[in-house]
Amino acid sequence: MQFRIGSGHDTHRLAAGRPLILGGVVIPHDKGLVGHSDADAVLHAVTDALLGAAGLGDIGDAYPDTDPRYLGADSRVFLTETLAKLNLLGWRVVNLDVTIFAQEPKLGPVKATIRASLAELLAVSLDCVNVKAKTGEKVGHIGRAEAIGTHAVVLIEKAISHQLSAVSKTEPVPTAG
Ligand code: MG
Repeated sequence: MQFRIGSGHDTHRLAAGRPLILGGVVIPHDKGLVGHSDADAVLHAVTDALLGAAGLGDIGDAYPDTDPRYLGADSRVFLTETLAKLNLLGWRVVNLDVTIFAQEPKLGPVKATIRASLAELLAVSLDCVNVKAKTGEKVGHIGRAEAIGTHAVVLIEKAISHQLSAVSKTEPVPTAG
């Protein structure tokens, strides 16, 4: 197996009048994240981690926030399209570890739902995904509840059997005696 690791980070501003969507899950709150798309900071960080692991650039290259096609876009599409690209290249997700930074709302009650949503979107079992929640300790833009941030780390793997057979073809054939 060949392994690659990728990391992703995203932050979006919190404001009234927007739905709060994290990891594809709508979370009841009086504020939501502001962005060109649905502003799902979790899915954006995970998508960036996948792109990074596969050496495919970043989410801004793939889905520019100046493109009207992505106005109000469902970020689950960004993730599933990116996963399909990786699968075509032979990559499969081994595991994902996500940390969400939010002073409010409290994410303890919804962590499990976000985890299940991510596992479903990535088509991996639940134990391959972990979701952690941190506050901002009431300092900085996270701690003042002005924004929510996410950090994601993903490991991907690809079988290299075809490469091994290519190498063996170039090896000298042992001679008898
Ligand atoms: Mg974003």
